[in-house]
Amino acid sequence: MQAIIDGFLKFQREAFPQRSALFKQLATRHTPSTLFVTCSDSRVVPELLTQQEPGDLFVIRNAGNIVPSYGPEPGGVSASVEYAVAVLGVGDIVICGHSDCGAMTAIANCTCLDHLPAVANWLRHAESARVVNAARQHASAQACLDALVRENVIAQLANLKTHPAIALALEQGRLNLHGWVYDIESGGIAALDGPSQAFVPLAEYPHTCALAGKPRHAA
Ligand SMILES: [Zn+2]
Repeated sequence: MQAIIDGFLKFQREAFPQRSALFKQLATRHTPSTLFVTCSDSRVVPELLTQQEPGDLFVIRNAGNIVPSYGPEPGGVSASVEYAVAVLGVGDIVICGHSDCGAMTAIANCTCLDHLPAVANWLRHAESARVVNAARQHASAQACLDALVRENVIAQLANLKTHPAIALALEQGRLNLHGWVYDIESGGIAALDGPSQAFVPLAEYPHTCALAGKPRHAA
């Protein structure tokens, strides 16, 4: 803990003064361009891997970068999604999974979660990814896990679309959805290409998009 407090003191001494104008500007308002949904994993740092500043990303993090489908009792993730789209007016949402994900490993290995009832319950929101991935052949346990991480990103994008605020923003053509998988060891990102449903290197295809919103009745 001392390292964290020392880090704060360093922030106050060095980083804050360098950005004092930015923080003054952000003191009473923020207009982030993007909602970034990713895992709580300590190795995934959204602002670092996208090189964004305070005020740029609205972030939701949880085990497995999960967005529960919209339902009769929407929870904290749903509220944050709704706020990001309907109030902050973000134009893009990224669902970002990652390599070596503990949540996805538990699902892929059918790890017994009897002693972790809250985790077991939470990971049910990834059930469609589990079922689809389990029905496929995989060359190795590693390949199975990598495929599940990708399938979960696809499943969470589908869950996202069940939210009324998302459906409306897509209908009105003011929202794009992105599905990414970040590789911790290489620092690379594979992005879901909507038309082909394939993951491609974002570095080679920087305009890759999972779903570009456009008015359904546009001429
Ligand atoms: Zn994870």
